[in-house]
Amino acid sequence: MPSPWVPLFRNYGCLYDRIVVFGIFAADMAKHLILLFLFIASTACAQGRYRPGEVVPEPYLKVFGSERFFRVAPIDAELRALMERCSVKSEKGVDWDGLRYLQVLHRDVDGNAIVGEMVCNAAVANDLMEIFTALFESGYPIEKMRLIDHYGGDDEASMRDNNTSCFNQRAITAGGRPSKHSYGLAVDINPKYNPYYKLKSSGKVVVKPETGADYLDREGDFPYKIRKGDLCYKLFKQHGFHWGGDWASGKDYQHFEK
Ligand SMILES: [Zn+2]
Repeated sequence: MPSPWVPLFRNYGCLYDRIVVFGIFAADMAKHLILLFLFIASTACAQGRYRPGEVVPEPYLKVFGSERFFRVAPIDAELRALMERCSVKSEKGVDWDGLRYLQVLHRDVDGNAIVGEMVCNAAVANDLMEIFTALFESGYPIEKMRLIDHYGGDDEASMRDNNTSCFNQRAITAGGRPSKHSYGLAVDINPKYNPYYKLKSSGKVVVKPETGADYLDREGDFPYKIRKGDLCYKLFKQHGFHWGGDWASGKDYQHFEK
């Protein structure tokens, strides 16, 4: 079908014909402009549609960048209600104003860009934003990053699912005093492949998650393994965190705390 634009430039002797052709041309242009506007508007609104756990398509990131997915926010009423049902076991000791909700992007081992989320202490929010931004930009693999509340506050379930998390009001794994997770000052990265291990004086071996025994051999080659000196280790150390893999008594390879 010939374009209606071409006759516009021909030498028509009749003014009426020129007006008709110009009208066709203007209508065609308007149609294209409307379609362009609808495309831009729908794409710009798409950011809100990508929820935690969802993959963000690469073409979207190429056009609009990844920055819009990285944000820090206070704990709103809806999130607080969720946390009070799951990760907060007692009102005592929770400083709501001192916690922050983080949203970031992370890449899994296949390179997919995924929306991640985390609740942490405000004192480490900027550290974690810098660390997770650097990990995302370098393609360091993190499989999942959902709130522990997504697992009903069950740390074992979260670890078995290889979910990276931070805030969870609970005692340290050995029992007794509150864990730094209770204050949002500790992060567990890819926990399924970086388990907690401790040989008790009774001779009993404790492994968390309980399904993580296959990954206690740190010489083994498997995905999501944190190595001393790798990018994840370096970034957390640069920001003043301690790594559980350096502990003398037992090992907590998934754990970074400040
Ligand atoms: Zn931990």
